[in-house]
Amino acid sequence: MYKRVLLKLSGEVLSGEGGRGFDEASVDYLLEEILPVIRTGTQLAIVIGAGNIVRGRELRNLRNSRADELGMLGTVMNAVYLKEVLSGAGVKAVAVSSIVKLPSLDDHKYDRIEKSLESGEVVVFGGGTYLPFFTTDTAAAVRAIEIGSDVIIKGTKVDGVYDKDPKKNDDAAKIDRITFASAIENNIEVMDREAFSICQRYAVPVIVIDFFKKGNLLNAIMGEKIGTLVIP
Ligand code: UDP
Repeated sequence: MYKRVLLKLSGEVLSGEGGRGFDEASVDYLLEEILPVIRTGTQLAIVIGAGNIVRGRELRNLRNSRADELGMLGTVMNAVYLKEVLSGAGVKAVAVSSIVKLPSLDDHKYDRIEKSLESGEVVVFGGGTYLPFFTTDTAAAVRAIEIGSDVIIKGTKVDGVYDKDPKKNDDAAKIDRITFASAIENNIEVMDREAFSICQRYAVPVIVIDFFKKGNLLNAIMGEKIGTLVIP
Protein backbone atom coordinates (compact mmCIF):
# COMPACT_ATOMS: atom_id res chain seq x y z
CA MET A 1 0.00 0.00 0.00
CA TYR A 2 1.25 3.49 -0.86
CA LYS A 3 1.25 6.05 1.95
CA ARG A 4 1.82 9.29 0.01
CA VAL A 5 0.36 9.54 -3.46
CA LEU A 6 0.46 12.13 -6.21
CA LEU A 7 -2.60 11.82 -8.42
CA LYS A 8 -2.43 13.40 -11.86
CA LEU A 9 -5.80 14.15 -13.38
CA SER A 10 -6.71 15.83 -16.62
CA GLY A 11 -9.00 18.83 -16.34
CA GLU A 12 -11.49 16.75 -18.30
CA VAL A 13 -12.33 14.75 -15.17
CA LEU A 14 -14.28 17.85 -14.11
CA SER A 15 -16.24 18.27 -17.33
CA GLY A 16 -16.60 14.78 -18.77
CA GLU A 17 -14.58 13.65 -21.77
CA GLY A 18 -14.39 16.32 -24.45
CA GLY A 19 -16.55 18.65 -22.36
CA ARG A 20 -15.87 22.16 -21.14
CA GLY A 21 -16.35 23.74 -17.74
CA PHE A 22 -17.68 21.78 -14.81
CA ASP A 23 -20.18 18.97 -14.86
CA GLU A 24 -21.87 17.86 -11.65
CA ALA A 25 -22.11 14.16 -12.48
CA SER A 26 -18.40 14.05 -13.37
CA VAL A 27 -17.49 15.82 -10.16
CA ASP A 28 -19.69 13.44 -8.13
CA TYR A 29 -17.84 10.50 -9.69
CA LEU A 30 -14.50 12.09 -8.84
CA LEU A 31 -15.57 12.54 -5.21
CA GLU A 32 -16.82 8.95 -5.03
CA GLU A 33 -13.38 7.76 -6.11
CA ILE A 34 -11.40 10.08 -3.84
CA LEU A 35 -13.37 9.83 -0.57
CA PRO A 36 -12.59 6.14 0.09
CA VAL A 37 -8.90 6.89 -0.49
CA ILE A 38 -8.95 9.65 2.13
CA ARG A 39 -10.65 7.29 4.61
CA THR A 40 -7.69 4.90 4.42
CA GLY A 41 -5.39 7.66 5.70
CA THR A 42 -3.52 7.96 2.41
CA GLN A 43 -1.76 11.30 2.06
CA LEU A 44 -3.03 12.64 -1.24
CA ALA A 45 -1.80 15.43 -3.48
CA ILE A 46 -3.42 16.18 -6.82
CA VAL A 47 -2.04 17.89 -9.90
CA ILE A 48 -4.89 18.95 -12.12
CA GLY A 49 -4.76 19.93 -15.79
CA ALA A 50 -6.98 22.34 -17.71
CA GLY A 51 -8.35 20.33 -20.64
CA ASN A 52 -11.87 21.38 -19.58
CA ILE A 53 -10.95 25.06 -19.89
CA VAL A 54 -8.11 25.55 -22.34
CA ARG A 55 -4.87 23.92 -23.39
CA GLY A 56 -2.24 26.30 -24.71
CA ARG A 57 -1.88 24.48 -28.03
CA GLU A 58 -5.57 25.09 -28.81
CA LEU A 59 -4.98 28.86 -28.98
CA ARG A 60 -3.16 28.94 -32.30
CA ASN A 61 -3.62 32.68 -32.77
CA LEU A 62 -1.53 33.46 -29.67
CA ARG A 63 2.19 33.19 -29.05
CA ASN A 64 2.92 29.87 -27.34
CA SER A 65 4.13 31.39 -24.09
CA ARG A 66 0.99 33.51 -23.80
CA ALA A 67 -1.31 30.66 -24.70
CA ASP A 68 0.36 28.55 -22.04
CA GLU A 69 -0.18 31.28 -19.48
CA LEU A 70 -3.90 30.91 -20.09
CA GLY A 71 -3.59 27.14 -19.79
CA MET A 72 -1.81 27.53 -16.46
CA LEU A 73 -4.51 29.91 -15.25
CA GLY A 74 -7.04 27.25 -16.21
CA THR A 75 -5.29 24.75 -13.96
CA VAL A 76 -5.48 27.27 -11.10
CA MET A 77 -9.23 27.65 -11.67
CA ASN A 78 -9.55 23.87 -11.50
CA ALA A 79 -7.44 23.67 -8.35
CA VAL A 80 -9.66 26.21 -6.59
CA TYR A 81 -12.75 24.42 -7.86
CA LEU A 82 -11.49 21.03 -6.73
CA LYS A 83 -10.52 22.35 -3.30
CA GLU A 84 -14.02 23.76 -2.91
CA VAL A 85 -15.85 20.59 -3.89
CA LEU A 86 -13.61 18.51 -1.64
CA SER A 87 -14.25 20.90 1.24
CA GLY A 88 -17.98 20.75 0.49
CA ALA A 89 -17.79 16.96 0.78
CA GLY A 90 -16.17 17.25 4.21
CA VAL A 91 -12.60 16.63 3.07
CA LYS A 92 -10.02 19.09 4.30
CA ALA A 93 -8.16 20.43 1.29
CA VAL A 94 -5.86 23.25 0.26
CA ALA A 95 -5.16 24.65 -3.18
CA VAL A 96 -1.54 25.63 -3.73
CA SER A 97 -0.05 27.81 -6.42
CA SER A 98 2.60 30.46 -6.65
CA ILE A 99 1.61 31.64 -10.09
CA VAL A 100 -1.18 33.95 -8.96
CA LYS A 101 -2.47 35.29 -5.68
CA LEU A 102 -6.01 34.57 -4.58
CA PRO A 103 -7.50 34.55 -1.10
CA SER A 104 -8.30 30.83 -1.42
CA LEU A 105 -4.83 29.82 -2.67
CA ASP A 106 -1.92 28.95 -0.44
CA ASP A 107 1.56 29.97 -1.50
CA HIS A 108 3.86 27.15 -2.57
CA LYS A 109 5.78 26.61 0.67
CA TYR A 110 7.37 23.24 1.36
CA ASP A 111 6.92 23.28 5.13
CA ARG A 112 3.28 24.19 4.90
CA ILE A 113 2.58 21.60 2.21
CA GLU A 114 4.29 18.97 4.37
CA LYS A 115 2.12 19.89 7.36
CA SER A 116 -1.01 19.73 5.25
CA LEU A 117 -0.15 16.27 3.93
CA GLU A 118 0.80 14.95 7.35
CA SER A 119 -2.46 16.18 8.82
CA GLY A 120 -4.46 14.44 6.11
CA GLU A 121 -5.39 17.49 4.05
CA VAL A 122 -5.57 16.96 0.31
CA VAL A 123 -3.13 19.28 -1.44
CA VAL A 124 -4.30 20.38 -4.89
CA PHE A 125 -1.59 21.95 -7.04
CA GLY A 126 -2.60 24.53 -9.65
CA GLY A 127 -0.42 26.33 -12.16
CA GLY A 128 1.49 23.34 -13.51
CA THR A 129 5.24 23.84 -13.32
CA TYR A 130 4.67 27.64 -13.45
CA LEU A 131 6.54 27.64 -16.76
CA PRO A 132 5.18 27.74 -20.29
CA PHE A 133 6.03 24.92 -22.76
CA PHE A 134 5.39 22.22 -20.16
CA THR A 135 2.34 20.15 -19.29
CA THR A 136 0.72 19.12 -16.06
CA ASP A 137 2.24 15.64 -16.53
CA THR A 138 5.64 17.21 -16.04
CA ALA A 139 4.23 19.23 -13.14
CA ALA A 140 3.05 15.96 -11.58
CA ALA A 141 6.57 14.55 -11.81
CA VAL A 142 8.12 17.67 -10.26
CA ARG A 143 5.55 17.95 -7.45
CA ALA A 144 5.80 14.23 -6.67
CA ILE A 145 9.52 14.60 -6.09
CA GLU A 146 9.09 17.82 -4.11
CA ILE A 147 6.68 16.18 -1.67
CA GLY A 148 8.46 12.82 -1.59
CA SER A 149 5.53 10.92 -3.04
CA ASP A 150 5.80 7.12 -3.10
CA VAL A 151 4.10 6.94 -6.48
CA ILE A 152 2.40 8.95 -9.20
CA ILE A 153 -0.97 7.69 -10.29
CA LYS A 154 -1.88 8.94 -13.70
CA GLY A 155 -5.63 8.72 -14.14
CA THR A 156 -6.51 8.24 -17.80
CA LYS A 157 -9.27 6.94 -20.04
CA VAL A 158 -7.34 3.77 -20.90
CA ASP A 159 -6.61 0.84 -18.63
CA GLY A 160 -2.86 1.06 -19.09
CA VAL A 161 -0.09 1.10 -21.64
CA TYR A 162 -0.40 -1.01 -24.83
CA ASP A 163 2.29 -2.22 -27.19
CA LYS A 164 0.33 -0.71 -30.12
CA ASP A 165 -2.60 1.69 -30.36
CA PRO A 166 -5.50 -0.49 -29.16
CA LYS A 167 -8.01 1.61 -31.15
CA LYS A 168 -6.24 0.77 -34.41
CA ASN A 169 -4.90 -2.72 -33.68
CA ASP A 170 -7.07 -5.63 -32.58
CA ASP A 171 -4.01 -7.56 -31.46
CA ALA A 172 -2.67 -4.78 -29.21
CA ALA A 173 -1.57 -6.24 -25.88
CA LYS A 174 -1.59 -4.49 -22.54
CA ILE A 175 1.76 -4.13 -20.84
CA ASP A 176 1.70 -4.72 -17.06
CA ARG A 177 5.16 -3.33 -16.40
CA ILE A 178 7.54 -1.22 -18.41
CA THR A 179 10.68 0.75 -17.66
CA PHE A 180 10.89 4.49 -18.18
CA ALA A 181 13.69 3.92 -20.68
CA SER A 182 11.56 1.69 -22.90
CA ALA A 183 8.48 3.91 -22.46
CA ILE A 184 10.56 6.81 -23.81
CA GLU A 185 12.21 4.71 -26.53
CA ASN A 186 8.88 3.33 -27.74
CA ASN A 187 7.17 6.73 -27.70
CA ILE A 188 4.54 5.62 -25.21
CA GLU A 189 2.33 8.67 -25.23
CA VAL A 190 0.43 8.12 -22.03
CA MET A 191 2.66 10.69 -20.32
CA ASP A 192 5.09 13.10 -21.91
CA ARG A 193 8.74 12.16 -22.11
CA GLU A 194 9.86 15.07 -19.92
CA ALA A 195 7.69 13.64 -17.14
CA PHE A 196 9.00 10.09 -17.68
CA SER A 197 12.54 11.35 -17.72
CA ILE A 198 12.20 13.22 -14.40
CA CYS A 199 10.50 10.21 -12.79
CA GLN A 200 13.28 7.96 -14.06
CA ARG A 201 16.00 10.23 -12.67
CA TYR A 202 14.41 10.39 -9.22
CA ALA A 203 13.06 6.82 -9.24
CA VAL A 204 9.39 7.66 -8.73
CA PRO A 205 7.18 4.89 -10.11
CA VAL A 206 4.11 5.77 -12.17
CA ILE A 207 0.93 3.73 -12.31
CA VAL A 208 -1.28 4.37 -15.31
CA ILE A 209 -4.88 3.50 -14.55
CA ASP A 210 -8.31 3.82 -16.08
CA PHE A 211 -9.70 6.45 -13.72
CA PHE A 212 -13.21 5.85 -15.01
CA LYS A 213 -13.42 2.27 -13.77
CA LYS A 214 -14.97 2.41 -10.33
CA GLY A 215 -12.63 1.52 -7.50
CA ASN A 216 -9.48 1.56 -9.64
CA LEU A 217 -7.91 4.49 -7.81
CA LEU A 218 -8.36 2.95 -4.39
CA ASN A 219 -7.28 -0.49 -5.58
CA ALA A 220 -4.12 0.86 -7.20
CA ILE A 221 -3.23 2.69 -3.98
CA MET A 222 -3.87 -0.48 -2.00
CA GLY A 223 -1.25 -2.18 -4.14
CA GLU A 224 -3.49 -4.21 -6.42
CA LYS A 225 -1.89 -4.90 -9.79
CA ILE A 226 -4.02 -2.85 -12.12
CA GLY A 227 -3.13 -0.69 -15.10
CA THR A 228 0.51 -0.41 -16.06
CA LEU A 229 3.39 0.14 -13.68
CA VAL A 230 6.21 2.26 -15.09
CA ILE A 231 9.45 1.81 -13.20
CA PRO A 232 13.14 2.84 -13.38
N1 UDP B 1 0.70 24.48 -18.87
C1 UDP B 1 1.91 25.15 -18.91
N2 UDP B 1 2.92 24.75 -18.08
C2 UDP B 1 2.78 23.72 -17.22
C3 UDP B 1 1.56 23.02 -17.19
C4 UDP B 1 0.53 23.42 -18.02
O1 UDP B 1 2.07 26.09 -19.66
O2 UDP B 1 3.72 23.41 -16.48
C5 UDP B 1 -0.42 24.95 -19.72
C6 UDP B 1 -0.35 24.39 -21.13
O3 UDP B 1 -0.86 25.38 -22.01
C7 UDP B 1 -1.32 23.23 -21.07
C8 UDP B 1 -2.38 23.73 -20.13
O4 UDP B 1 -1.65 24.51 -19.17
O5 UDP B 1 -1.87 22.91 -22.32
C9 UDP B 1 -3.19 22.68 -19.42
O6 UDP B 1 -2.37 21.62 -18.98
P1 UDP B 1 -2.50 20.14 -19.60
O7 UDP B 1 -2.53 20.23 -21.09
O8 UDP B 1 -1.45 19.32 -19.00
O9 UDP B 1 -3.94 19.74 -19.06
P2 UDP B 1 -4.69 18.32 -19.15
O10 UDP B 1 -4.55 17.83 -20.57
O11 UDP B 1 -4.01 17.38 -18.20
O12 UDP B 1 -6.11 18.62 -18.73
